[in-house]
Amino acid sequence: NLLARDGDPIVAVATAPGRGAVGIVRASGKSLADVARAITGRELVARHATYLPFRDARCEVIDQGLALYFPAPHSYTGEDVLELQIHGGPVVLQLLLARLLELGAPLRLRLAEPGEFTRRAFLNGKLDLAQAESVADLIDASTEAAARSATRALAGELSRAVGELAAELVELRLLVEATLDFPEEEIDFLRQAQAQQRLQALQQTLQQVQVRTRQGALLREGLRVVLAGQPNVGKSSLLNALAGAELAIVTPIAGTTRDKVSQTIQIEGVPLHIVDTAGLRDSADVVERIGVERSWHAIADADVVLFLHDLTRLHATGYAQAEADIARGLPQGVPLLHVFNKRDRVDVATLTLQLPQVWSDWGMEAGESVWISAASGEGLQTLRYQLLALAGAQQGSEGVFIARQRHVQALAQTRQHLDAALRLIELDAQAPLDLLAEELRLAHQALMAITGQYTPDDLLGAIFSSFCIGK
Ligand code: GDP
Ligand code: ZN
Repeated sequence: NLLARDGDPIVAVATAPGRGAVGIVRASGKSLADVARAITGRELVARHATYLPFRDARCEVIDQGLALYFPAPHSYTGEDVLELQIHGGPVVLQLLLARLLELGAPLRLRLAEPGEFTRRAFLNGKLDLAQAESVADLIDASTEAAARSATRALAGELSRAVGELAAELVELRLLVEATLDFPEEEIDFLRQAQAQQRLQALQQTLQQVQVRTRQGALLREGLRVVLAGQPNVGKSSLLNALAGAELAIVTPIAGTTRDKVSQTIQIEGVPLHIVDTAGLRDSADVVERIGVERSWHAIADADVVLFLHDLTRLHATGYAQAEADIARGLPQGVPLLHVFNKRDRVDVATLTLQLPQVWSDWGMEAGESVWISAASGEGLQTLRYQLLALAGAQQGSEGVFIARQRHVQALAQTRQHLDAALRLIELDAQAPLDLLAEELRLAHQALMAITGQYTPDDLLGAIFSSFCIGK
């Protein structure tokens, strides 16, 4: 259990593995002054960089570098922090790390677990949980938009919005709980205090925070976009065209994409995980049948499905029937875009006229569609924008918090309890105040899980162990 070991000082290489111009070894603990003195051979001035040699046990110089000492509580973790910056080679860094462990042994100095520095910063009140998570997000932000949004989250924007919601919620709770003590006047009291209006206003603010947070989760985690369709309609070609690389094997032989291949691309800073699938058709080939089965699983997990059609084969024998079969298997409620491919090979004007008949042959409602050529690239830009719109992304990322599914869920839970509270208050005359108070308490608790005030230890463990060591 990490929490139990939180007293021991910790140390780790803080810079990324491999060769760099500068490497940093960082230690944090309750009393590091002795270790700092031992490794540097002098008394360090707080928060000043001192250039000096670091020596091993035999007094040989490991490297020259800078030593920085941040006494508690004015440090990243809130404990004493010692930062040693030397040349970034892995060997010297390991030597310096080993020497520190040696010198710190009497203090039980040990290697840090992943994310332990940030965890301590959280436990010492330097960061709240949402901010701590954004440290990790900033480190592995895969797109520029995600990085910008993580920076805002680190500055505490999500936390601030949550804090404002919580403050209003606390006032409402106090109001209701105070009313509980005066049962005769309870209804008038709540009415005078405009409890219902305030609850409605709170609900609206929460909704806005939810929208921004959902956008943020999208930026961070991206969406699964699954390519579905019969063999040879051009799924692999489309994946390659979108990813700009030869990933999947494109062949003119039907049924060659036997397994899924996936590639993450970004459109306007939103990461999209595009999953190619084996062509969906009945087959006698056992291997191909397994591929088809996997494809259906991938489709069931999709956030968005692109259903590809081959414009050159709209009138081929059996084609319409196969399309109808696939359409029946597509999951309900998942956003779907029909992609008509190979427009370079057909007369678009004629086909457009025939389209209503085509939809009805397939037994489908005319759905949202786009005409493209994976081969020539025509229509791909439109497809990208339609994909973004389907994903529910808004233009630009201003005002978006980088967020996680965890935050989205916590807000949704808060919302449920507020909804319930609002229904109770609307009962008016018979409003069961104790139930109302309970719903508000649960809403508050769900909300505070975002910044960590109510987060159980096991959840904390899960969050911090996803960090890398030295952070
Ligand atoms: P999949 O089985 O659905 O993955 O289809 P592929 O991507 O392997 O493509 C099947 C065949 O169609 C290949 O010969 C591709 O070169 C061809 N193809 C794919 N897209 C287009 C397109 O937009 N225009 C033309 N003319 N041919 C295409
Ligand atoms: Zn393929």
